[in-house]
Amino acid sequence: MATIDITKLRKEFGDDGEQIVAVDDFNLTIRDGEFLVFVGPSGCGKTTTLRCIAGLEDVTSGTIEFDGRDVTDQRARERDVAMVFQNYALYPHMTVRKNIAFPLRLSTKQSSAEIDEQVEDVADLLGIGTLLEQKPRELSGGQQQRVALGRAIIRDPEVFLMDEPLSNLDAKLRSKMRTELQELQSELDVTTAYVTHDQTEAMAMGDRIAVLNGGELQQVGTASEVYRSPTNEFVASFIGSPSINLFTAEVSGTTLSGPGGFEYTLEDGSLVTGRESVRMGIRPEDMRLEAGGAVPSTVTVVEQMGNENFLYAEMGDIDITARIESVMNPEEGTDVEFGFDESDLYLFDVNTSEALKTKTGETDVAYEKYIGETT
Ligand code: ATP
Repeated sequence: MATIDITKLRKEFGDDGEQIVAVDDFNLTIRDGEFLVFVGPSGCGKTTTLRCIAGLEDVTSGTIEFDGRDVTDQRARERDVAMVFQNYALYPHMTVRKNIAFPLRLSTKQSSAEIDEQVEDVADLLGIGTLLEQKPRELSGGQQQRVALGRAIIRDPEVFLMDEPLSNLDAKLRSKMRTELQELQSELDVTTAYVTHDQTEAMAMGDRIAVLNGGELQQVGTASEVYRSPTNEFVASFIGSPSINLFTAEVSGTTLSGPGGFEYTLEDGSLVTGRESVRMGIRPEDMRLEAGGAVPSTVTVVEQMGNENFLYAEMGDIDITARIESVMNPEEGTDVEFGFDESDLYLFDVNTSEALKTKTGETDVAYEKYIGETT
């Protein structure tokens, strides 16, 4: 186990002619035993950051420390990290037993019997104890992924680094493996950095989530923190599915006016004092159908999800989405109005896109208190 400190990390690719800054001014501490997920759109620098931690990329500048030990110039094999990639890269001609044992045979002088015992322990932990004599091609995708994990676990590393390890699996297996991986990580208590472009996966798995964009770290926090209190418009729009509704509103006193006749008077006008306009955000789950509500719109499509419906509509030239009850199925072209609570409203600076207001209200309500309030 290790605490990982990344300080002022920068990674450029290419020569002087055409330089790509893949990671810039990146500062982050991954805590001992933590499951930290890097998430962000394609090309934002997730894999590069992970490869720098692994020692597979030379950094342009900055430092990486494991437990206060500077490893920046150490090569991958000197760092005691184990990586699991999207592409499992199992050896096709070797049995599961030999695939899992491979790192030990390379790096230790243990006897075959000792190695066998460890392979069997790891295989049992992963529920593949009966598959040890099979070859990879005889296994399902999920089983192959477990073998790849086994090969990482058997090294008993200080750090696990995982790059989209579940993306080759179908949706159901992926969700099962998510839970399994989380349980396994918490059981082994090994510091883990995990890359995904899927915000749902990030939210579900990470102790904390690091949101990246354009090579820069935007925010680090728990799922609840990045969802409720995004530092800027990018994080607000990247986290949450369907995405938050965002539009620009003009400020007049304490009243905000937006496209298509949107009008809302803030209870707390101090939030917009001295501003001519502001970016507004309302999450689809915070919109409720309400006669006279501030969001007038015209229905374009309703998608039925079974347990709820996603309503897509137009408010002037802005597309908006609302999550509504499954019994509500208004036809295309229907004019509807939505209301929301000010405590759920997000406001962002029009120029810097930094958050001016995020969700307010209590979080982590104790069960007893919750039950007391709802009964
Ligand atoms: P994805 O989710 O698509 O894998 P990512 O967030 O992991 O994306 P990176 O692979 O880290 O992004 O890439 C960050 C940027 O660095 C991109 O612009 C990419 O084109 C560039 N890049 C990555 N590796 C190299 C390389 N070896 N040579 C040149 N440019 C590279």
